Amino acid sequence: MSIIVATNNQHKMQEIADIIGDSLVLMDLSQVGYFGDIPEDQDTLEGNALQKAKFIYDRYHLDTIADDTGLFVPTLGGEPGVFSARYARNNNSILSNVDFLLSTLQGIENRAAYFRTIFALITTAGVKYFEGICEGRIIEQAKGSGGFGYDAVFVPNGFEETFAEMDAKIKNSVSHRFKALYKLRGYLEGLS
Ligand code: IMP
Repeated sequence: MSIIVATNNQHKMQEIADIIGDSLVLMDLSQVGYFGDIPEDQDTLEGNALQKAKFIYDRYHLDTIADDTGLFVPTLGGEPGVFSARYARNNNSILSNVDFLLSTLQGIENRAAYFRTIFALITTAGVKYFEGICEGRIIEQAKGSGGFGYDAVFVPNGFEETFAEMDAKIKNSVSHRFKALYKLRGYLEGLS
């Protein structure tokens, strides 16, 4: 079975390929000839994941997946959450977002956090959602050069290293994205 992955984020694409690439033929956007942006302006992860998947499905009419992910910090009322990509209000580079998060958390003892990801899958059978959550904590200074996004400040429960310090294989065996894709793969296997 082949499926389009509606993302322009090469790090995400690589993780998705590493996690489910052995059981599905994944097509990135360049393989279907799409080189533009994908709109993402909803206020829930589900809404954004569906918006991204639908935008591509409506053009190519081939099975499509898209994810939307947020980092949730309960002590900050769930921020940055669905706004993780645009957290530092005046400059939304990932470095500014991470710096803004670290400065907001300065002096706060409870640094528990979790990544939540939602995949939307669109096929001729309709839309299905798959959720993955990875719990952990935010450390005080970024560490590591692997991964992407907030990985350098997030230590998953049961580990001492950040996602950015660990081997990608280990991140991809415990991450929010792994958990959601594991369910998605199970669903697709049930269809065939
Ligand atoms: P989006 O799902 O691409 O919209 O990502 C929202 C924000 O979360 C962006 O700032 C990403 O860099 C960040 N992000 C998404 N997935 C991950 C991840 O697996 N680790 C760390 N940051 C992530």
